[in-house]
Amino acid sequence: MPHRRKGGADRSLAVLGVASELYPLLKTGGLADVTGALPGALAPLGVQVRTLLPGHPSVMAALHDPQTVAEWPAWFGGPARLLAGRSSALELLVLDAPHLYARHGNPYLDSAGRDWTDNGERFAALAFAAARVGWGELAGYAPDVVHAHDWQAALVPAYLHYLGAGKRRPATVLTLHNLAFQGQFKADLWSRLGLPAEAFAMQGLEYHGDVGYLKAGIHFADAITTVSPTYAREIRTPAGGMGLDAMLRWRDSAVSGIVNGIDTEVWNPLTDPLLAERYDATTLPRRQANKRALESRLGLPADDSPLLCMVSRLTTQKGIDLVAQALDALVGSGVRLAVLGNGDLALEDALRAGAQRHPQRVAVHIGYDEGLSHLMQGGSDAIVVPSRFEPCGLTQLYGLRYGCVPVVSRVGGLADTVIDANDAAVKAGVATGVQFSDVSIEGLLDAVRRTVALYRQPAAWQRLQIAGMRADVGWQTSAAEYAALYRRLVRPQEPA
Ligand code: ADP
Repeated sequence: MPHRRKGGADRSLAVLGVASELYPLLKTGGLADVTGALPGALAPLGVQVRTLLPGHPSVMAALHDPQTVAEWPAWFGGPARLLAGRSSALELLVLDAPHLYARHGNPYLDSAGRDWTDNGERFAALAFAAARVGWGELAGYAPDVVHAHDWQAALVPAYLHYLGAGKRRPATVLTLHNLAFQGQFKADLWSRLGLPAEAFAMQGLEYHGDVGYLKAGIHFADAITTVSPTYAREIRTPAGGMGLDAMLRWRDSAVSGIVNGIDTEVWNPLTDPLLAERYDATTLPRRQANKRALESRLGLPADDSPLLCMVSRLTTQKGIDLVAQALDALVGSGVRLAVLGNGDLALEDALRAGAQRHPQRVAVHIGYDEGLSHLMQGGSDAIVVPSRFEPCGLTQLYGLRYGCVPVVSRVGGLADTVIDANDAAVKAGVATGVQFSDVSIEGLLDAVRRTVALYRQPAAWQRLQIAGMRADVGWQTSAAEYAALYRRLVRPQEPA
């Protein structure tokens, strides 16, 4: 049955989001920020989003007034229920399947940091559940669009395709938040997915002899979005496509980039309870109190030299190896560095060693700390994001909003959201940060030297901060783009 249906442009749309994380319930990265903020931004546009999440303990604990809306006694190896409920303003469906999700900690990894061996089943179970909701199995709920996020939800369009004969078919959108994570599993998983044999084919889920979740999603989704226009271009090239560029070029007309926004209520320096002192673009000198608070929290001496920060997963994607290697030279250029992050153990060690060499100038806080991340943005002078690739990046957006000048590599969403302080942009008063193209130690050092030179011109620096704080980093524009995309997908077909 075709998914296109009647309805005017202003009719309210029902969208089922499907994701593995959602802020503030469960977050390991930017995906959660997006799934947490987009529903609220879409509501005023007549788009009602309900999000289907796995029943991770933190999600179960946050669910208010849950009602059981479906029961599946044998769901990927155990009993499952679908619960409908709310958490604050968010409408949720939760797949409560304790044998798959009742595990504390990271939603993808065991306590030793290894992928859960049943991740294939865990996220197929989520996607299949979404397909059943998409078909209209829940009384009184028939989503117009199913919006799947990343590989964890990427099998939704495949289940709808292979098992949907004779059923209603919602439109599908797949958003790629990071092509580095593709959900690729050994073929012995196949028999447990509940899909017909013919689906294990190049034109289906087969991917280099394995089962490819993201590959299947790219194949079958009606629309594929990624989180910035530049990343949307990069992933269609061999250099940026991570093996999927040919598939993405094949789906060329279905691919687009919609830049992420941020939740400007959670991230508002004028009201942020996690700051020592609140401020806005007209009261920038008040930031100084946050710098002092941050220094004291991190054990750095109070000092007026530029304090650069990083809030990041510690991985080579994020260019952390470059920072670790350049650390002595960075300190030599006159900056101090505060790092909040965790990830690759060797990189954690390299940064810690740097902090031991420069205890007065480098502080490294290994761990995940949402509260400290706000003070880092409110108290540092600049945030460094030297990513090798970056689908969108959120920390540079928080930096803009907080007057913490972003110093970023010119890739993906970093290229799209920061205006480099070249002469013309500075003269025109539109510069918001520093960008560099050569993602290397030298490129990074050069960008930091430019940053220090700007910092030493207080009037120019303040103009950078203010222009950044005035940049449009909210969800409004991007939510309107998602709403327009949804409406295009469900638009009634022109008569032949
Ligand atoms: P990615 O999703 O690739 O990790 P993004 O920049 O898109 O990168 O999003 C990262 C999100 O996670 C941001 O909200 C950032 O503030 C947050 N974050 C990353 N590391 C930490 C940390 N150690 N403590 C607190 N927040 C963190």
